[in-house]
Amino acid sequence: MDYIAEAVALGIDSIILATCIRQYYKNKNAMAMIQGAPYLTIDKELKEIVETHPEGRLSYVSVRGTIKPIGNPIVSINNPTITGVVQLLRIKEHVIQRSSTGFWADSERVIQEVHNITPFALENKGMVIEVCDPLAADVLDMDVISDKFQPTVPSVIDHIWSFFAGVRQRGIQSTEKMLRRGAVITGIGELVAGKDGTLKLQPPSNGAPFYLTNMQVNSLIKKLDGSKRNYGLLCVLFGTVGIFVTAMIIRKYLKIKTELEEQIKRKKQLEESRRERRRIMRDEDVPENQLCVVCKTNPKEIILLPCGHVCLCEDCSIDISGNCPVCRAIIEKKSVAYVL
Ligand SMILES: [Zn+2]
Ligand SMILES: [Zn+2]
Repeated sequence: MDYIAEAVALGIDSIILATCIRQYYKNKNAMAMIQGAPYLTIDKELKEIVETHPEGRLSYVSVRGTIKPIGNPIVSINNPTITGVVQLLRIKEHVIQRSSTGFWADSERVIQEVHNITPFALENKGMVIEVCDPLAADVLDMDVISDKFQPTVPSVIDHIWSFFAGVRQRGIQSTEKMLRRGAVITGIGELVAGKDGTLKLQPPSNGAPFYLTNMQVNSLIKKLDGSKRNYGLLCVLFGTVGIFVTAMIIRKYLKIKTELEEQIKRKKQLEESRRERRRIMRDEDVPENQLCVVCKTNPKEIILLPCGHVCLCEDCSIDISGNCPVCRAIIEKKSVAYVL
């Protein structure tokens, strides 16, 4: 019970620290893998290069080309002049919600999310690489075609209802995103030569991240390096906090332990001195007025406050807590009346 605040602080700190460490290594590994991925130009020689490798497979490469649909492209709903190969349609509800703490806070909820895909390839100098499973990409950069927010105008009844329900709608946001036809993107993944003679870029089977990004490889590496550094700093920060909290817990533990040991030592000393006094008393012929008024055996050892009567031995004082046996005054406090 003594360590609840520290334990909670340490727990939260550990969770944040673990997340930061994971992100740090995720960025570091992704960076190392992308740096190690050869950049290949999409041209006539590329197919030969791939076919010379075992199983016609290059496990991690980066290529850059223009998006070209295979078959009919998808037409934007909001702007019919735009066509693309991957489309995201999302409807979100924005609400103000009363949280468990009693405050009203903004929150949002996805009502519907639809992805439409059509097969596509990356093209350069008349050569193409087909891109497989684009939705499996860890990073898939799409252009925002439309992003509309329609606020809800609440009626009086809505206001009353929301007061009791604890939730009020603010509005509906509809978003359309697209991977556009003709956009130039970098694809980083596994490159294989199919049996039909086509080249395919697919999610890497070694677990490396699959990228379809409008960034150049260099800027992507720079970005990963930046976030790696930021997570590194956060690791140092939360690591330091963790060490600090741990030190506080150890300090508190040692303090409590020392106090407990001192208490036991004091109690032992008291018992020792009492035993010693009683031994002396037994040996001597103690006058009756120096014996406990209750048991008439042990010497008087306890002073009752506030009346100040010394009339009880320590054993009998445990059972008497209401009134002084001599003057009937209410006992507020008991203390030992002998010197150690
Ligand atoms: Zn007694
Ligand atoms: Zn008294």
